[in-house]
Amino acid sequence: MSEGQSQGELVRVEGLTKRFPVQKNLVDLLFSGREQQWVHAVDDVSFTIRRGEVLALAGESGSGKSTTGRLLLRLLDPSSGRIFFDGEEIAHKGQEDLRRLRSRMQVVFQDPDSSLSPRMRVGEAIAHPLRIHRTPDKRAAALALMERVGLTPAEFLYRKYPHQLSGGQTQRVVLARALITNPEFLVADEPIAMADVSVRAMILELLRELRDELNLTYLFITHDLATAKYLCDRVAVMYLGRIVEIGGRDQLFRRSHHPYTRALLAAIPVPDPAKRRTEPVVKGEIPSAITPPSGCHFHPRCPFATARCREGRPPLKEIEPDHLSACLLD
Ligand code: SF4
Repeated sequence: MSEGQSQGELVRVEGLTKRFPVQKNLVDLLFSGREQQWVHAVDDVSFTIRRGEVLALAGESGSGKSTTGRLLLRLLDPSSGRIFFDGEEIAHKGQEDLRRLRSRMQVVFQDPDSSLSPRMRVGEAIAHPLRIHRTPDKRAAALALMERVGLTPAEFLYRKYPHQLSGGQTQRVVLARALITNPEFLVADEPIAMADVSVRAMILELLRELRDELNLTYLFITHDLATAKYLCDRVAVMYLGRIVEIGGRDQLFRRSHHPYTRALLAAIPVPDPAKRRTEPVVKGEIPSAITPPSGCHFHPRCPFATARCREGRPPLKEIEPDHLSACLLD
């Protein structure tokens, strides 16, 4: 964290759970008579994010990290659990109450092109969230923010349409639009996943600068632990809807405990083969969240699994201050 930032908590999640009903086709509905099946997208997840902190939520596709981000913003309703934002419980608030909080929490999605209307000039798109605010000069506010995120010359780019911008510029537009209401909390959902390598570094650096300047708090969702290392203060690793390890950046990268975290770290490419981590290979793909494995969800792929791992769910245990892991080996 930057100097002078408060240690106070901005977001707290307790026992957050989200299940989606599996859609049945007509034949199933008429003849199968099977019970309703569920996708267990997020399964009893708890964590906090301190004010001014960047928490990475990392894991493979299908681990539940994007669903967790949407639940925090109440873009989805949780099945159960509690969500606190700045001390206020928001898990069960109605849309009317949420409207008041919306400007304080924003999201940046992975695909900037699909986030923007092709028929709206980018300056208008950035100013658009201000339509319900009493900002006297919305155009001037958008231009100032465009300058700040490197969309220059701002007056010239204000009139452009998304298809007239480069990929990096489009991602900056999306970021500016998310920041125009002066939010405190930003969910960045794989914000650089679709960007070129050169653009990625610029966007990450910009996110870091903006965090420091505006005292922002991020939930940074990524499948790439190398990116998490660059930007984040703490990292939570998710597997099949559950957090399997959470700790400070150095704790995770230097003293990771959970076999799944260690496998993800070993998969990060390093230029010097002598420095490559050697870990037993994790087999297969992430299983279906409709019928997750019993006990420790990771047991079918874990090189250290024993019969015990198929039974109870391993609890998240503190293995050192502020560092928790959910493995029976800990
Ligand atoms: Fe592997 Fe068992 Fe630990 Fe799960 S609990 S990570 S299966 S050793």
